[in-house]
Amino acid sequence: MRPIYQADLVNGAFGDPGVCIDLKFRNRALLFDIGDVSALPTRKLLRVSDVFVSHTHMDHFAGFDHLLRVCLGRDAGVTLYGPPHFIEQVGHKLHAYTWNLVENYSDDFVVAVHEVHPGCVQRARFRSRNRFQRESLPEEPLGDNILLHDDDFHVRTQAFDHHGLPSLAFSFEEHTHINVWRNRLEELGLPTGPWLTELKQRVRRGEPDDAIVEVRWRTREGSRREEIPLGVLREQVLEFVPGQRVCYVTDVAGHAANRDALVAFLHDADIAFIEAVFLAQDAEHAARKAHLTAGQAGGIARAAGVRTAVPFHFSTRYFADEQPLRREFEAALSGRSVVGDASRS
Ligand SMILES: [Zn+2]
Ligand SMILES: [Zn+2]
Repeated sequence: MRPIYQADLVNGAFGDPGVCIDLKFRNRALLFDIGDVSALPTRKLLRVSDVFVSHTHMDHFAGFDHLLRVCLGRDAGVTLYGPPHFIEQVGHKLHAYTWNLVENYSDDFVVAVHEVHPGCVQRARFRSRNRFQRESLPEEPLGDNILLHDDDFHVRTQAFDHHGLPSLAFSFEEHTHINVWRNRLEELGLPTGPWLTELKQRVRRGEPDDAIVEVRWRTREGSRREEIPLGVLREQVLEFVPGQRVCYVTDVAGHAANRDALVAFLHDADIAFIEAVFLAQDAEHAARKAHLTAGQAGGIARAAGVRTAVPFHFSTRYFADEQPLRREFEAALSGRSVVGDASRS
């Protein structure tokens, strides 16, 4: 079965960092970082429901105004997630404008903000009807580091060191797909229908194998009714396809503690977008700026067993020729060379 999403860099490897996860069948999209988003068409920006901001350096957050401008008056709102001080910073952005006419808009545009702290999330919202005055909401625990729960997926976060500040990495994790084998249903003489949706829900809830599933349906001969153990249906009728995991890592120092934690965070990811900012030959500069070298990034992805690794956030100092960065990343990813060990820096 196809994944339910498509994940792409918003800009090229040199542009402002960002990834869009487009949940096309859900008419919904998620953004990881919101720097320059002018490359995204308006119809896609209007689908953005949630924006996950790693940290508030400009190249990761300056596009919020663009999103606000596109969505204001046409949309119900957006939820933002970010590091400590984020609620205050979003408030400052909103208060930089004059909102004397915004109450007249037919929709109440709501900016919900979730600020990530170790073990908890502080929350607030800003509503256009209220001229974007801050309204505090109750704090929530951050169970399992999960920021967003949905029926089809969840989004998890972890903070990594960036110049002594936290930079949040994100992991989009699809839930297991449960499919129905139509042919086996026919073989058992069972109909399709809403009972299958209920069956999937009961299986997801972890009901025991001996729980009884009642199926009622009508045929020309009259109404039929069967009682079948849930375990039998799970074995014979359902197919389980593991969901995929897409990770986004940017603006993290290349020291050993971060590298070890990143390998654990990215373990077994299907796709990892990982920053590869400088060449190993510029490792000292990378360490000063608290960024990964291409060699470190490729080495981390290799150690984590990532299936597809996509480097990005290339420094513009290599703009004339990006190939050395890509070669260094690929070499480390394939294990052809061990480069970028910045443990000395
Ligand atoms: Zn950056
Ligand atoms: Zn940064």
